[in-house]
Amino acid sequence: MVRMALPPVAVLFIALGVFVGRASAQTSSQASPAPAVAAPLLPTQKPPTRADILRGEYGRYRANNDLLFYHLDVRVDPAKKSISGKNTIRFRMLKDDTRIQLDLYANLGVDKILLGQVPLKYEREINTVFVDFPETLRAGREYAIDFYYSGLPKEQGRFGGMAFRKDPSGDDWINTACEGEGAAVWWPNKDQWRDEVERMELSVAIPNDLVDVSNGKFVAKTDLGDGYTRWDWLIQYPINNYDVSLNIGNYAHFADKLGDMPLDFYVTPGNLEGAKRQFAQVKPMLEAYEHYFGEYPFKKDGYKLIEVPYSGMEHQSAVTYGNHFANGYLERDWTGVGTSLKFDFIIIHESGHEWFGNAVSAADVSDMWIHEGWTTYLEGLYVEHLFGHDEALKYLNAYKSKVRNREPIITQRGIHRSPSQDMYFKGALFLNTLRSVVDDDARWWKLLRDLFQHFKYQNIMTEDLVQFVNAQLGQNLTPVFDQYLRRADLPTLELSFDEAEGTLAYRWKADERAFAMPVRIGAPGAWQIIHPTTDWKVMETSLKKSDVEVATDLYYVNVTK
Ligand SMILES: [Zn+2]
Repeated sequence: MVRMALPPVAVLFIALGVFVGRASAQTSSQASPAPAVAAPLLPTQKPPTRADILRGEYGRYRANNDLLFYHLDVRVDPAKKSISGKNTIRFRMLKDDTRIQLDLYANLGVDKILLGQVPLKYEREINTVFVDFPETLRAGREYAIDFYYSGLPKEQGRFGGMAFRKDPSGDDWINTACEGEGAAVWWPNKDQWRDEVERMELSVAIPNDLVDVSNGKFVAKTDLGDGYTRWDWLIQYPINNYDVSLNIGNYAHFADKLGDMPLDFYVTPGNLEGAKRQFAQVKPMLEAYEHYFGEYPFKKDGYKLIEVPYSGMEHQSAVTYGNHFANGYLERDWTGVGTSLKFDFIIIHESGHEWFGNAVSAADVSDMWIHEGWTTYLEGLYVEHLFGHDEALKYLNAYKSKVRNREPIITQRGIHRSPSQDMYFKGALFLNTLRSVVDDDARWWKLLRDLFQHFKYQNIMTEDLVQFVNAQLGQNLTPVFDQYLRRADLPTLELSFDEAEGTLAYRWKADERAFAMPVRIGAPGAWQIIHPTTDWKVMETSLKKSDVEVATDLYYVNVTK
């Protein structure tokens, strides 16, 4: 996902809003020393609501079962802007229990929930549906329920949730994109991040003249004889709920192949020529990521790129695209140093999520940097692969201007609190720093590939990733991860010269007492690596304070001297 996907006017408006809010808070706290006026809470610091807990907590009625399979079978009526149908949910019980927790937004109706032919009782609370069983479900056994629902989904959130729109020719154009709001905005499911189905079927009935493009492999379309056609898709890998997507419209289609893997492209008819030109970037992009991490992770399902009215989203094997068929991001130089204009930001970013986000997934939104920090770093790898290391360093370091360092990247788990945007830019700059810590590219490339191969198709937390990196490198980098991800401030390298004595004292100023990280100082081309900790060390040096630089394009740190 890209959360900065606002049209320029909206960006300006929000930027001003933030600026005004912060400026006034500073003024008031300075003007009234006692009692201090509390600064407004950052979004990540607000106390959770009951809805946040229901959404984010992996509580008893979620943890007692393991998802296996969904068959979502729906009918979408563009005229009524309605959806109806059922989700067959198969799961294995992990503990004996009589209740499970599912989710469906309160504005959608539950028609009935069946276990076989037996209607089940349920209790709704905000956007949650607790389903009760007349007899105890037994640990180790598999069960399937049919959850029937219907209603009018509400358009909401950054990308619409489920939006009924028209394309430029006036034809129906209906899309779902719901990472922030949750998939329960348009279909009933176990709406959390930790547990995914192993596979999924998706059946979508729509008026005969429209096309549905969803995730997975196209199986068949069937004329239902009532003016509707059902499109069947098969997803042959684990999938995040929010990645499941409908894209219904008057799509034109063209195709290509990467080796033996199908590449399928769907755009509104007026954009066919522009798309054929712009989507030529797909093959080199996939080849770049395959070079670093290994084969495209959803090969049996293929790769699709589908035009939508919003900027774009990483829907698994069905990436959605709304970047105006132009390089940059919404026709802007996204990083401001020229590099962004060499490629189509949405194709490169959203497709990178197939590796980090979709194949390797975070188990809680608190650790979403595993999606966004890594994918932003993948942009840098794409740039390196196509345009060289210098260009990649220029590109990644340009992201410094977007980092705030006001709050930690990792948020509290269990309350579905999205991290700040630092998870993108600081996350990527941290990974670039880690490469310099490893200081051996052959080892770094192997680490990246092994890490991806080890965690693909899993839902993990940062601790899992750190443990893997520490084991692979045979070092304890936990304090380094913690400083960058669990603290707001960057580490500061303090250099203190005594030119009369010919000595340099140095240390890290960091919140993590055990923080220790090598860093290069001296001059470009003649760097020397020092190994500061949070305790002062003294070395003899002939270097003068005014001559000494720190390689801050390789290490994202502050420096004082
Ligand atoms: Zn993203």
